[in-house]
Amino acid sequence: MIIDGKKEAEIIRSEIKKEIIEIKSKTNKVPSLTVILIGDYAPSQIYVKNKEKSALEVGITSKIIKYPKSVSEKEVLIKIDELNKDKNVSGILVQLPLPDQINKEKIINAIHPSKDVDGFNPINVGNLSSGYKSIVPCTPLGCLLLIKKVEKNLSGKHAVIIGRSNLNGKPMAQLLLRENCTVTIVHSKTKNLQNECHKADILVAAVGVPNLVKKDWVKDNAIVIDVGINKVGDQIVGDVKFNELKDKTKAITPVPGGVGPMTIACLLKNTLECFKALQI
Ligand code: NAP
Repeated sequence: MIIDGKKEAEIIRSEIKKEIIEIKSKTNKVPSLTVILIGDYAPSQIYVKNKEKSALEVGITSKIIKYPKSVSEKEVLIKIDELNKDKNVSGILVQLPLPDQINKEKIINAIHPSKDVDGFNPINVGNLSSGYKSIVPCTPLGCLLLIKKVEKNLSGKHAVIIGRSNLNGKPMAQLLLRENCTVTIVHSKTKNLQNECHKADILVAAVGVPNLVKKDWVKDNAIVIDVGINKVGDQIVGDVKFNELKDKTKAITPVPGGVGPMTIACLLKNTLECFKALQI
């Protein structure tokens, strides 16, 4: 089975759109997302544009605040503080990466946890790892939703995650632990990576190395989720050799068209959740 991330993301987006129409008819309010974009890094410009377009399509209002690459950390922190206090702002996102003079940790910490649509603030990270209610980072959340489309009950499954980033690997591990999986995280210092991956009922690759995972790394009937987005020549490929694996897996995500569309859908989902929490 090839998992159609585009289709699943479309279902989530239409549910969000429907819910926002209902909310608007009752309260005359809609969620809003503010994105801070610093500098002129081309991929960031595209990501932010896509986020804005997707937000507007489901009825979330969106604002992009742009700063030149030379902006000071203080100026950005003052803006975040202003947005934290603004009742009309449901979600705040600072597009990464940031220029050298700006400390990423300070910026992430400054976004109020209740408006932290990326789920990167340590309060949300801590809540997730404690098993409490939290905002969950969009990409791992999207991966979990895709896995659960294939298999509802994940209890007792062995999940192996390649990559231990705060963005992907670590929150993915927490989510799968919450589902009662036995979780192994592997990374660049892991010995015998192939052997570890071969134990997986569920394999999530979030590495950034094109075509790293090969046919003989994965046991028959595993679920394989490919988070990687890698440019090779003029092609975008994942971390998994899709063509080698697609016939031996239970389910696999393609790149593009797998996890990517779910990330944006989950950003919209998080923005709606932040909005609803602010209304209580
Ligand atoms: P990252 O911060 O660079 O982390 C990569 C992880 O992979 C690290 O933990 C690293 O290990 C590990 N790693 C690197 N080379 C390895 C190797 N040869 N063998 C085993 N482990 C290795 O990357 P990220 O931000 O998590 O992103 C990972 C990929 O996902 C990238 O391709 C990125 O573009 C993509 N991505 C996709 C989406 C989406 O929506 N689909 C969203 C975000 C990111 P160490 O910790 O030991 O260095």
